[in-house]
Amino acid sequence: MVLLIRTLYLALLATVLFTAKAQDPAPLDPLTREAEVYLQQLATEKGIGIRQAGTEAEVRAADFIQNTLEGLGYVVKRQSFDYINSLTKEPQTSQNIIAQKVGASGRNIILGAHYDSTSAELGSFGAVDNGASIAVMLATAKLVAGLEQQEYGVTFVAFGAEEVGLIGSYKFVQQISVAQLDTYLGMINLDSIVGSDNLYIHSAHSSPYDCKGNTKRYMFDTSLRDQLFKVANSVTQKNTFEIHSGYDSYPKGETGGWSDHTPFACAGLPIGNFESTNFAINGQSGKDGFSQSTHSSLWTCFDKKNMSACDRESEKKWGKIWHTKNDQLDILESLFPGRIRQQISDNLSVFRAFFTQLDRHIEAMINK
Ligand SMILES: [Zn+2]
Repeated sequence: MVLLIRTLYLALLATVLFTAKAQDPAPLDPLTREAEVYLQQLATEKGIGIRQAGTEAEVRAADFIQNTLEGLGYVVKRQSFDYINSLTKEPQTSQNIIAQKVGASGRNIILGAHYDSTSAELGSFGAVDNGASIAVMLATAKLVAGLEQQEYGVTFVAFGAEEVGLIGSYKFVQQISVAQLDTYLGMINLDSIVGSDNLYIHSAHSSPYDCKGNTKRYMFDTSLRDQLFKVANSVTQKNTFEIHSGYDSYPKGETGGWSDHTPFACAGLPIGNFESTNFAINGQSGKDGFSQSTHSSLWTCFDKKNMSACDRESEKKWGKIWHTKNDQLDILESLFPGRIRQQISDNLSVFRAFFTQLDRHIEAMINK
């Protein structure tokens, strides 16, 4: 009897162990899992989904981010603002969601990402632009919430209305006094950080952005980008993150003024901009990062040798993901199985290393 039970027990145990082994691939880092859940909640049909600037859905996305941050123990500030939508010319309201992990020195670094989406008429859900960045920011906020206080703090900002003219990030910068501005050491912007062929970290451009006409304080400073790149190289496989080679109007490692890092560079802060794209593709307007992938189904015809369309006249798709129907999780997963999870994990590796030892990295950046 005892022997029988024992035999049955062992057989059962073997089945359980075998099944577990057969079903579980690589163990998933809990923070990556966390980010994936946030991404599902934010950017799929079952969740909030499409969330264009000034819409009810954008407000729901803001509520979701605020609730999540409050759930992590942060005191959250909701900064509402009115603006004229540059596409529709309609007056609209949007909001930034702001939370802070205070540092002992009162000085801190900003980690920001926009949460609105665009191109609903083309079927975009804004999964990579910019749902995944918000998901990674929230997962990072969770990590940072659990850390001991350091000398330097972190300000998390989820920007509204980016896609209609960087409205939220400009509003955020405009409400900061000059004295307050000095308490910020730099700004890390996350925009479209996963989904495309390569992962990059950019600095601002060596030629000033237009800065809405005020370039007096504009700063071209690569110190934050360089420090982040150093961290990325120490915690991810070689060449996971790149500083892009110089192309056309974009000198090595520099990016254009098309995302929320722009007003911060205009205000004189060093910036580090995370972006997933493919700068090596000669796209519709040259090598500018606006073609995101060489995947053949994203092109009418792609010429690998020339890294461009087989025929520029008849090309219809140009390897684009952002602002197209391709910016949906299920489509991206079928095109690139496992890619989004891997890239979320790669980004989180960098932020885990950077924020866990924030003081050391800020000092290295300042003393450069
Ligand atoms: Zn974006």
